[in-house]
Amino acid sequence: GFNCGIVGLPNVGKSTLFNALTKAGIQAANYPFCTIEPNVGVVAVPDPRMDTLAEIVKPERVIPTSMEFVDIAGLVAGASKGEGLGNQFLANIRETDAIVQVVRCFANDDVIHVAGKVDPAADIEVINTELALADLDTVQKAIDRLTKQAKSGQNKDAAAKLELVKEVAEVLDQGHSVRSMKLDAEKRALLHDLHLLTSKPLMFIANVDENGFENNPYLDQVRDLASREDATVVPVCATTEAELIDLEGDDKAMFLDEMGLEEPGLDRVIRAGYELLGLQTYFTAGVKEVRAWTIKRGMTAPQAAGVIHTDFEKGFIRAEVVAYDDFVACGGEQGAKEAGKWRLEGKDYVMHEGDVVHFRFNV
Ligand code: GDP
Repeated sequence: GFNCGIVGLPNVGKSTLFNALTKAGIQAANYPFCTIEPNVGVVAVPDPRMDTLAEIVKPERVIPTSMEFVDIAGLVAGASKGEGLGNQFLANIRETDAIVQVVRCFANDDVIHVAGKVDPAADIEVINTELALADLDTVQKAIDRLTKQAKSGQNKDAAAKLELVKEVAEVLDQGHSVRSMKLDAEKRALLHDLHLLTSKPLMFIANVDENGFENNPYLDQVRDLASREDATVVPVCATTEAELIDLEGDDKAMFLDEMGLEEPGLDRVIRAGYELLGLQTYFTAGVKEVRAWTIKRGMTAPQAAGVIHTDFEKGFIRAEVVAYDDFVACGGEQGAKEAGKWRLEGKDYVMHEGDVVHFRFNV
């Protein structure tokens, strides 16, 4: 599956948030997963469209799609020099598809701050510096390697790659991320095998007090920094989420109402993570089950079919597609057919967000 690695300095509320996410995962109905490592939380992606589809189709079961959050422990200043658990920390980040950085935006004298005061910009700087230094190390090794290759003339891509990698080194040297270079797809592909940490999509979770969603200078600092870093921000109160996760039904609704929240903050975190990973959803809607499936944006119909089963991709014949809005407006597949909203799509069809699909295939 696709995953977001959660990082943060000590005492920023990372465990509080991760535990809430993990509980949310366990509570998700019809959970199609089994063994999970302790530092991996698999969570259902909240999607109100599933309820609407279920009302129309009346299936036996409804299965949401999911994504993973990985708790990455061990960040300390000096990680890039291999101090403490530093090397393991960096290796773990390298394996994630996106980075979620929890930042402390709440003041609380009872909770000690590692640097002595609440200072989101400085905290973010500590983490970003470690990531940038690790990348700089990777990039310098690549420059040595590519220089040799370019001279020998054996690798025809080496010269172009070398030029780009030198450019990257300069940006990193100035303390900026590779992400901030906003490279096009072609250049990103050239850098792919370096697995640079600062090129991964980044989101900040600003952990605020329960009344810290507005007029919060800490939060403003994070927003400001994020816009320069090409990152997204989700404000959330981790302690509220921890309380909320133990409530159900009316109690939950009342609590949300009291807090003036429309939905749990975790739902926003999960959806923002999904977005950050460049993912999109399509549905299958039969009487046995209504189910949401995750694909990468831009995937074709056969690739999407392959997410259900590899045989579906290999034997793909065609996809029968109804757009979600049409499906709902026409009261289901039959209505969509009558209204001319039911389409047959071939192997080149690029999936749209929310497509309701039936795949036809040879076995
Ligand atoms: P970690 O070291 O980043 O994993 O931090 P923890 O999740 O263990 O949180 C450290 C302390 O901060 C705990 O006592 C939490 O209850 C407290 N804390 C976490 N989030 C909030 C918050 O949003 N507001 C307040 N006031 N305290 C929080």
